[in-house]
Amino acid sequence: MFFSIFSKFPNYNLKSHKKLALLTKSCYNIYKGVLTMKISLVQNGEIIMMNDKNEKFYLLMEKLVRSMTMADRFDKYAILRALADMCRYFGVSKAVSEFYQTPTNAKLQKGEKTIGFDDGNAGDICYTEKILTKSRAIVIGTAYMSKDAAPLSPEEEDKLKLITRMLLSFLSRHRLEGVVEQFTFYDDTGYRNIRSFLRYLELLSEKNDLGGHTAVYYNLRHYTLVNRDIGRSAGDIAMRNFFEIIENIIGDKGIICRVGGDNFVAVFRDELTEDILNVLKGTPVIYDTNSGKRIMVSASTGVFRMPEGYKFDTPGDIMDRILSSSQAAKLGGKDSIVFFDEKMEVGKEKRMHMQQLFPQALKNEEFKVFYQPKIDIETGELAGAEALCRWFRDGRIVPPMEFIPILEQNTDICQLDFYMLDHVCKDIRRWLDEGRKAVRVSVNLSRKHMMDVDLLEHIINIVDSNNVPHEYIEIELTETTTDVEFRDLKRVVSSLQQKGIYTSVDDFGMGYSSLNLIREIPWNVLKVDRSFLPVDADEDDSTRSIMFKYVVAMAKDLGLECVAEGVETDHQVKVLRDNHCIFAQGFLFDKPLPLDEFEKRMNDHYYKVKDE
Ligand code: C2E
Ligand code: MG
Ligand code: MG
Repeated sequence: MFFSIFSKFPNYNLKSHKKLALLTKSCYNIYKGVLTMKISLVQNGEIIMMNDKNEKFYLLMEKLVRSMTMADRFDKYAILRALADMCRYFGVSKAVSEFYQTPTNAKLQKGEKTIGFDDGNAGDICYTEKILTKSRAIVIGTAYMSKDAAPLSPEEEDKLKLITRMLLSFLSRHRLEGVVEQFTFYDDTGYRNIRSFLRYLELLSEKNDLGGHTAVYYNLRHYTLVNRDIGRSAGDIAMRNFFEIIENIIGDKGIICRVGGDNFVAVFRDELTEDILNVLKGTPVIYDTNSGKRIMVSASTGVFRMPEGYKFDTPGDIMDRILSSSQAAKLGGKDSIVFFDEKMEVGKEKRMHMQQLFPQALKNEEFKVFYQPKIDIETGELAGAEALCRWFRDGRIVPPMEFIPILEQNTDICQLDFYMLDHVCKDIRRWLDEGRKAVRVSVNLSRKHMMDVDLLEHIINIVDSNNVPHEYIEIELTETTTDVEFRDLKRVVSSLQQKGIYTSVDDFGMGYSSLNLIREIPWNVLKVDRSFLPVDADEDDSTRSIMFKYVVAMAKDLGLECVAEGVETDHQVKVLRDNHCIFAQGFLFDKPLPLDEFEKRMNDHYYKVKDE
């Protein structure tokens, strides 16, 4: 009755109701009732001049229900105020609620206890209610009364029961919503997850506010090696601190979330972009709070600036853009930040086209082995060769950088590498049969092979089926950055070595070179990347010269053969000689050569090496 009258007069107007009041006496009574209610509510929700106890109860009830059903703007304090009024109404001096996610947690008292109201006169428990919810959470409500308070009538007791149960069911739903929110929008280590990110983007989109925001996807560089160097728990701390540095810059102007592993996404207002990218390029981060020890953390980052008025079909559009630019940043070596531009979409089509062409091209033998000689600079002797792939397509030679990274996005690269090995073996077999001075040839193997548990068998099968003595084959593998790969790499290299096949670390110094990589894995050869090789303008004491010197010395100490890649000048040959690095590969001697030209070099067998 009360609610229906109330809802009929939502915008109560005194004048019109005075007229109404004149109509009939009964009407007037209704009017009086409504008027009283209205006045009491107008005065800021505090019910102060109500005589009818029942009416007061319903008003308090309505206030409580209202405060709990404001789902869109949840206000804890409005609920607490309504609860306090209700407690005063019953003479309850203290109200306590408890929430436990499971019965076990309840037993262990692992939950939340909240004092909803306390006027300081708490005496004995007057009422307690415990509910086991469907999801097996436990909620408990307890009311206390001061010793000298008047006892409740049976009717009042019923009402208190009703209120308590209502509050508890609200509380359990609210808490469970919190739990669901935690599970849905956070990962198990407490980072906000990708769903938080997508929800935030949806929100911006609803407000037409995407324009003026920048989204980034970043992957921490070489984090597995960082973990190995400083330990996993210190690595976790550094990761969290790095996250917090960015989170603090973002403040309430965006959001940052973890996608998984060492991958993160963020979206924020454009004006923060510069500061955030500066952090991502590389920032010293504390990993040991006691000693203040720090480590440099940096990321490969893809960036997408949303232009004014930008709209998406789904938030996935933004994910695609930042993901593909971050992959480009990862492949790009030095340039660790790549901004998305429309050309990348074209790149995607090109990539898909190439992947489609590949199987037929392989069948057609469009891929050719080129050989780049390796020279012993002390004797000038042809000491070996590296097999490098060239794709003959539409009358053009496609260089590996244009197709290898694409083939590496799935396992196509593995087929190509085995194809190369097979062709190399066939050439070596023929050289041996023809009585030529055959040399050892190294073949590049993509890291993608590390997942192949039968890799060793595959390699041995190819070599043996071509009847090639194992010592003519060398397998080049690049440095690795993940723990799993490190273990696999160790297993693969050790087993190849047992079979008498040579192994080399390719491009040493390009990535995050870890000493463990060469100390713990039994390589035969270390190929020093050309970025480590001093250039002519470098002084003897330049960083590059010193690094080169130590890398070569270390390789020798560990019993590794050392090959310098990318030797282009006579001066560099002198640097090699001064540092006792006797094997060189580079344009100074030869570019990668087609088979017939390389065979000519095999016939000559010696190079003229200038003696500076
Ligand atoms: P890589 O294995 O480090 O091969 C050496 C690269 O350095 C070759 O590039 C070679 O042409 C180049 N190079 C040699 N000497 C010099 C020099 O003096 N100066 C300069 N600037 N460059 C020099 P290429 O042939 O373009 O191959 C690029 C990369 O593609 C290779 O680097 C290798 O990682 C990959 N690759 C090539 N063939 C294969 C293959 O069959 N399988 C796999 N998995 N990767 C391959
Ligand atoms: Mg190589
Ligand atoms: Mg190399």
